[in-house]
Amino acid sequence: MSGRYVLALDQGTTSSRSILFDVGGRIVATAQREIRPIYPQAGWVEHDPVEIWNTQRDTAMEAMDLAGVVPNDIAAVGIANQRETTLLWDRRTGEPLHNAIVWQCRRTAPLCEQLRADGLESLFRERTGLVLDAYFSGTKLRWLLEHIDGARERAARGELCFGTVDSWLLYRLTGHHATDLSNASRTLMFNIHDRVWDPELLDILGIPSEVLPEVCPTSHVYGNTATFGGDIPVASLVGDQQAALFGQAAFTPGDSKNTYGTGCFLLMNTGTTPVMSRHGLLTTIAWGLGDRVEYALEGSVFVGGAVIQWLRDELGLIPSAGESATIAATVPDTHGVYIVPAFVGLGAPHWAMKASGIITGLTRGANRAHIVRAALESIAYQSADLVRCMASDTGAAIRLLRVDGGAAANNLLMQHQADILDIPVSRGKILETTALGAAYLAGLAVDFWSGQEALRDIWREDRRFVPKWDEKQRETGVKAWGEAVRKALL
Ligand code: ADP
Repeated sequence: MSGRYVLALDQGTTSSRSILFDVGGRIVATAQREIRPIYPQAGWVEHDPVEIWNTQRDTAMEAMDLAGVVPNDIAAVGIANQRETTLLWDRRTGEPLHNAIVWQCRRTAPLCEQLRADGLESLFRERTGLVLDAYFSGTKLRWLLEHIDGARERAARGELCFGTVDSWLLYRLTGHHATDLSNASRTLMFNIHDRVWDPELLDILGIPSEVLPEVCPTSHVYGNTATFGGDIPVASLVGDQQAALFGQAAFTPGDSKNTYGTGCFLLMNTGTTPVMSRHGLLTTIAWGLGDRVEYALEGSVFVGGAVIQWLRDELGLIPSAGESATIAATVPDTHGVYIVPAFVGLGAPHWAMKASGIITGLTRGANRAHIVRAALESIAYQSADLVRCMASDTGAAIRLLRVDGGAAANNLLMQHQADILDIPVSRGKILETTALGAAYLAGLAVDFWSGQEALRDIWREDRRFVPKWDEKQRETGVKAWGEAVRKALL
């Protein structure tokens, strides 16, 4: 092994970022460029594949320049990516046939509805661990094959490549057409038990297998790239949320993390067993390390930090997201106010897509600070509902919650999370856990790190929030939140 650094490429929905890490897991250099969302019509979202590639390549070169390193200094490249976003390109020329269809795009919702009406929901659920929703790649790929002239025939002749963003970047970096287990498990076409593309699901979706990438372990030398001027192995591909779980060193079954961004993503490591949820959570592959494949349960809060943006941008109640904690801290509680920010319906465990948001418990005494506090608490209450579902699905209590993401900086929110869950909440020193996870997985493949024990040693706590509420306070809070949710569901 040569090289003193690992280069992580973190291709997200709003930006492409590149971060260089040293062997201590410390950030040596970072570069970032925004990427432009394209909205061809209401509810549709696309990205320009060439822009994804160019921004990602440029940030990598910029990070290397900033740190003054050459390819020889880099032991491996790891890639973490926005998941489910779907691309199709020409195998020979590398030319994209269409813009990337972004995970948020709803254009295939009617197709999902049709598949449900055909009674296929449970088949997809059992095989893939996912729900039949337009988020996932399978119906997006079918849409591309249907709407681009001659695409299905060309795909069947092996002339085209389908890929999620990891595969696209790998193809541009190395010329190989492959993906990893964590990304494959988000396509609605991959059997997570047998770990193969599922012939029956492909048949239902009308996808020729010739278009699909080879599926490899997450931590694996996929090939070398000469893009940066000398050969560097590309040694991990991993979906962003699974990367964050790995970056949090959540290696033991039961280990869980919550990422507080625009939405929240809660993942629990369930070890080598795929746990099927009774609460509508997703079952997904966390990662493949050599022959060992580990699974996770996943739940998401649709409106997390976004409720704070709403207070700022639509209500003008706070000047910035950061100041929400200061304002909320001027009152000891919410004075009976609860906000259920069901702006786009409610996800697990309710799955009420038609629910809309409400504010309950308003009295003449309720002021701005109570509302801000109730908004922050709503992020924690929604996350706590997911934690309870996971505990019930696995039969094991979560003992500690690891946290990251922009809103995890909010101490009041983190304290409330600990209080209502009655477990400690642990914030690490490194909040760039997505990039770090990709770096760890790449570094393991080239022996930059000796093993997971070494990575566990690198992880450092910044702050731990211990529960302060007594049983009665918790019961009162959880009950009142439950009542507010029931009203939102009416
Ligand atoms: P994403 O990756 O989804 O773009 P980030 O991890 O950057 O999100 O987090 C940004 C979100 O977190 C925004 O919705 C913002 O309102 C919220 N946020 C950022 N800082 C705070 C804070 N100190 N308190 C509460 N919410 C915050």
